[in-house]
Amino acid sequence: MGTKDSPGRYDCYAKAEPDEPIFTLLARDPLAPLLVRLWADLQHRHTNNPTDNSGGKVIEAYNIAEQMDFWRMDKAPRKTTYHCVECDANIEGIGAYRAHLTQYHPKLLAKP
Ligand SMILES: [Zn+2]
Repeated sequence: MGTKDSPGRYDCYAKAEPDEPIFTLLARDPLAPLLVRLWADLQHRHTNNPTDNSGGKVIEAYNIAEQMDFWRMDKAPRKTTYHCVECDANIEGIGAYRAHLTQYHPKLLAKP
């Protein structure tokens, strides 16, 4: 797996020509794991051997996609917005939403 602090075996920056266009996906991008797996699937289909042609680059891509998933689970911001139908407010987080209901609409929380 490659990171900023520890470039991977297939680090494209080291191999890129000075004028060669490159495109990088970061784990914070919700599409990154999917796109890395798609690339690996297509590359695997094209070469028909994940360890051939690119010296394990396809396997490395699958591993990176998995590490991206783990990273996202640990670090990616999770925002959940709740919409209050009583006053049309949008509130971030379940705790804040519950506090909003308690303060402004306590009847909604009252059990019959
Ligand atoms: Zn409200």
